[in-house]
Amino acid sequence: MTIEKLHEDTHVLHRFIGLYCERKHRDRNKETGYLFEEYHLCEECKELLQYAHERLSACPHEPKPSCRKCPKPCYERGMWKKMAKVMMYSGMYLGLVKMRKFFSK
Ligand SMILES: [Zn+2]
Repeated sequence: MTIEKLHEDTHVLHRFIGLYCERKHRDRNKETGYLFEEYHLCEECKELLQYAHERLSACPHEPKPSCRKCPKPCYERGMWKKMAKVMMYSGMYLGLVKMRKFFSK
């Protein structure tokens, strides 16, 4: 995987996790500037991002399939579940925002 692709994928992950953390972990202490300046993540979400980033950079597939469709997912079960929850939440949220914009035109 190229550095650009890794950076891009990590950025997408960061966006999803950042959104989830912002809305679900409002009252937790946040650390700032991990990997990217603009997001504030709590300890748990930072760990998740760090984990995902490590898995991404260690991905042996070329070209990399989407992790969801990977024939040999490298996530541990617990982390995979956590990530699925975050993706579902943020994906739905972003979808709804788009829909709302669409309907309010
Ligand atoms: Zn969080």
